[in-house]
Amino acid sequence: MFVTLSVATTADGCMDDTASERLLISTPEDLAEVYRLRTGYDAILAGAETLRRDDPSLLLRDETARRQRAARGLRPDLTKVTLTGSGRLDPALRFFTTGDADRYVFCPRELPELAGAATVIPVPVPISASRIVTELEKRGIGRLFVEGGAQVLDMFLREGVVDTLRVAVNPTMRLGEGRGRVHFAFEPPEGTPCTYEKFGDMETRTWRLRPDTRTDDLRFLRMAVSESLKCKPSATSYCVGAVVVTPDGRIFRGYTHETSPTHHAEQEAIAKAEAAGASLRGASIYSSMEPCSTRASEPESCTAMILRHGFAHVAFALYEPDRFAACQGALMLREAGVRVQYYPELADQVRRANAHLWR
Ligand SMILES: [Zn+2]
Repeated sequence: MFVTLSVATTADGCMDDTASERLLISTPEDLAEVYRLRTGYDAILAGAETLRRDDPSLLLRDETARRQRAARGLRPDLTKVTLTGSGRLDPALRFFTTGDADRYVFCPRELPELAGAATVIPVPVPISASRIVTELEKRGIGRLFVEGGAQVLDMFLREGVVDTLRVAVNPTMRLGEGRGRVHFAFEPPEGTPCTYEKFGDMETRTWRLRPDTRTDDLRFLRMAVSESLKCKPSATSYCVGAVVVTPDGRIFRGYTHETSPTHHAEQEAIAKAEAAGASLRGASIYSSMEPCSTRASEPESCTAMILRHGFAHVAFALYEPDRFAACQGALMLREAGVRVQYYPELADQVRRANAHLWR
């Protein structure tokens, strides 16, 4: 998933205070730009604290963008997403009452008071950004715009699931110390690519926190899908192909049951890399299907194997269906700090390669 965080701060780095009235930092020009940016996303997220304090509507204000979404068979407004540990959310909030949107609430408990107003997605505590990203991807969300508050931004940045970070600073506004100032303290690593723009008085910097790997990912993922076509269809396993690319550019391929009736594709490709003496720390693995997290045939899942070898990057084209097991591979990899990229545009080819299981 492509994730953008958007935050506005004062000249002295405050993004909020604990006063009851809403703190307006952005200029009208910057707000207009934020509304324009929203049009490039599928979903918009704000934490429950922000909903309770500011009561934002989180709407797509651009009529053309709304019509374009409707023409694609989508609800006109972006999917609205929030998360709450306590479940304290009033159904009268504008998050629930305004616009024509799908709405998701991540919460550890059931919320019957929101029946009809939103879909509640049950999650264990503590709620993680990795889980939110994974669950939204499974529901067709490819691009997520996160607008706060402080705890939510911190969680996404801490878990390393953010692609771009937009910080808009109002140079004419200072809050000074005291009164429960909420500072935005994140410093992107030295050398992170950054673009600078000005909207009215607001000075914005947009950092590219994760490089764009899409072109290479799709190239190697197509290679993995081709590899999966070499599998002999079996009633008890998926036809999967995998490609390992080492940091020094060596490529190793494998497919399900290639050398043993219990081997998975990832395992076959990793075994070839090991036999060739390749170092896998920081390597990438491309698998036509989400790496498994539990398996009956062997003690170690592909997810555990990927973590043991220190892979940095995993890409796949289809979430494993809940047919043989409830797979948690993508979630476990993300929670362990591995970069996980999902490319549903290749999913149909993977489904076709497994048509024997769907019949
Ligand atoms: Zn596996």
